[in-house]
Amino acid sequence: MVAGGDAYGKLENAALAVAGDRIAWIGPAAEARGRAAAQDIPIERGDGLWITPGLIDCHTHLVYGGNRVEEFEQRLCGVAYEDIARAGGGIQSTVNATRAAGAESLRASAAIRARRLMSEGVTTIEVKSGYGLDLATERRMLETARALERELPVSIRATYLGLHALPAEFRDRRREFVSNVGGPWLEALLDAGLVDAVDAFCEDIAFSLDETESFLRAAQASGLRAHVHAGQLSDMGAAELAARYGALSADHLEYLSARGAQALGSAGTVAVLLPGAYFTLRQTLPPPVPLLRAAGVPMAVSTDANPGTSPGMSILIALNMACTLFGLTPEEALCGATRNAARALGLADEIGTLEPGKRADFALWRVERPAELCYNLGANPCAGVVYGGEPRPSSSA
Ligand SMILES: [Zn+2]
Repeated sequence: MVAGGDAYGKLENAALAVAGDRIAWIGPAAEARGRAAAQDIPIERGDGLWITPGLIDCHTHLVYGGNRVEEFEQRLCGVAYEDIARAGGGIQSTVNATRAAGAESLRASAAIRARRLMSEGVTTIEVKSGYGLDLATERRMLETARALERELPVSIRATYLGLHALPAEFRDRRREFVSNVGGPWLEALLDAGLVDAVDAFCEDIAFSLDETESFLRAAQASGLRAHVHAGQLSDMGAAELAARYGALSADHLEYLSARGAQALGSAGTVAVLLPGAYFTLRQTLPPPVPLLRAAGVPMAVSTDANPGTSPGMSILIALNMACTLFGLTPEEALCGATRNAARALGLADEIGTLEPGKRADFALWRVERPAELCYNLGANPCAGVVYGGEPRPSSSA
């Protein structure tokens, strides 16, 4: 988990020194004891616990109104998806509920979800908009993301998911919607300081390559980096498009060609794997992990927490699924929620590994070895969290 060293970069009998909100030093515990005594620095003991970087959930849709449990139950009781969709289900139902929700209710429900992630050692969460699909509600979602960071001891990255679905009122004005998203709406949200990156859902059932490209071009002109929902249900060449625009990440990637993987590798774009959605949708073709490895594509793992296709609030279960469903090694999976997740957010210099100079975000674990973080299903061995050099109170752990 630190630069260099053994598998996982692990160090045993080690100590870590914090100064302000930064990691100041990492080295042998024996040396630390001497230095601390000489400089009168207080010591916290973590006997027998493992320390990892604070976990990073780099792809979530954490802010939304309502939920889709009714739909979940209807489907299992035999109602056809088409009938549910005709009755206003699917993404549009979350859009309706999110538009109707006040700022306070959005904030309160998102904070509950954020705390669940935080209880498993998460110190940074990416949060997407995309259930507003009009300027006022997209703004409210992104403001909610910013408010979470002020309220809770956690770092939030806010992503404007402008192209998520075509809202009903634009059914016959598709082009106008796409040009609003990349034009005046992007400008307004950017001016308000609410956008750290953009995202688009490039898929047959969502937005075309051309529409996605027009948004990426607008974002690039504004100096923003992008994420792209790519290859979840079909291979449209979205990974190549993401690579061409130097996107931070291409996410999902169940449908990805060797050429797509090579493009991501050459561009340094991170592949964000989302096994929770794969599981919920009962997909059968996993992302081509061997191709990603061969092309040297950094792989991240995230919850994709959202009310429809991945109602999961557990990064540890996502790590387990990345191993059991996608065949990642536990080391790759852990790297996917630390080092590579930081890279997927453009924060590789700031977080993701335990190195002097980086923010002092780390989690303590009551496990015998790191692979246990991927092995457990439904257990939470997190024994404490330090965020920005400060121990988190256990009530908000
Ligand atoms: Zn998503």
